[in-house]
Amino acid sequence: MPELRKDPLIGRWVIIATERAKRPVDFIASHDEPLPQGGCPFCEGSEAKTAKEIFAVRADGSAADQPGWQVRVVPSIKPVLRIEGELNRRGKGMYDVMDGIGAHEVIVETPQHIDNAADLTAEQLHAALRAAMSRIADLERDPRFRYALWFKNYGSTAGAGRIQHTRSQLIATPVTPLRVKEELAGTRRYYEDKERCLICDLLRQERDAQVRVVMDSAHIMALCPFASRFPFELWLVPKRHNCDFARMQPEELGDLAAVFKQILSRLKTVLDDPPYNALLHTAPFRRQRGKIGRWKTIEEDYHWHIELIPRLTRVAGFEWGSGFYINPTPPEESAKYLREADIDAGEHVETGDRRQGT
Ligand SMILES: [Zn+2]
Ligand SMILES: [Zn+2]
Ligand SMILES: [Zn+2]
Repeated sequence: MPELRKDPLIGRWVIIATERAKRPVDFIASHDEPLPQGGCPFCEGSEAKTAKEIFAVRADGSAADQPGWQVRVVPSIKPVLRIEGELNRRGKGMYDVMDGIGAHEVIVETPQHIDNAADLTAEQLHAALRAAMSRIADLERDPRFRYALWFKNYGSTAGAGRIQHTRSQLIATPVTPLRVKEELAGTRRYYEDKERCLICDLLRQERDAQVRVVMDSAHIMALCPFASRFPFELWLVPKRHNCDFARMQPEELGDLAAVFKQILSRLKTVLDDPPYNALLHTAPFRRQRGKIGRWKTIEEDYHWHIELIPRLTRVAGFEWGSGFYINPTPPEESAKYLREADIDAGEHVETGDRRQGT
């Protein structure tokens, strides 16, 4: 059983792996060759190589764990947290500890062996994002969990491992992640001060300035944030104020898939197929308990978004030690390169009428 441990200085929780603990030698040989396609457990026809599916999109009504799916969600074979058991919150002297309970799911985004989500159709991305929404809404019903983090790793430097088949992951945790809490606290402070949503204000200002906006479609804006930590860092933000990704409207979801596809194609063109991470920041689960008081203005003050980080630089001692990041490309320049990218006309996706969103 892994253990969650809380750093008493800043409140950061870590997961201590107690089984299959890695030795120094496990970290050395990291230049793995990608698995040949035949070894891929995520391709159609290889359903038996994964655990039993949790969810699937099957237009043809085919049976579970059989071919015929468009999107398939399975438990991770290397879960960071375990689904069975109770949290067992306790103290070890001054330290807070609980059992490593959570859910770790893999969303396989296509039955074909395609490595980069940029090469999916907007329809496939749409189905994969809708699967994520539906899984998050389902995990919210489990009273042990407070958050579900959706993320995507592409390329081995970004943590995708040896299997190059496009997929995203969901990890539900019994605590709200520190990075999310910091954002929640920051947006709440802004709201207390101004009675406005920080991200709504940010969207208005960026739309007026236009220098960091990469795409401005009917429902979604893609921009390089003012204080980007990394070169070509991007945010995808819904224009309609909404704290909760799982409560997106159908037209917003369709637009998100189209913009996501375009942005990934632009990154692929401008940066020659870079590794990247994408992650979703949405409101924590807030169904129950007196704790809701802490986030009582969350519906008004928080605004979900996706952060996309191409992995072009390495985080080193200064960043780890200080929390400062050194970004060698101003976001205004990143945005300009991405806007001007000459993506293949065949890949162009209609993203709706700009005027609707303004
Ligand atoms: Zn595959
Ligand atoms: Zn807002
Ligand atoms: Zn964020």
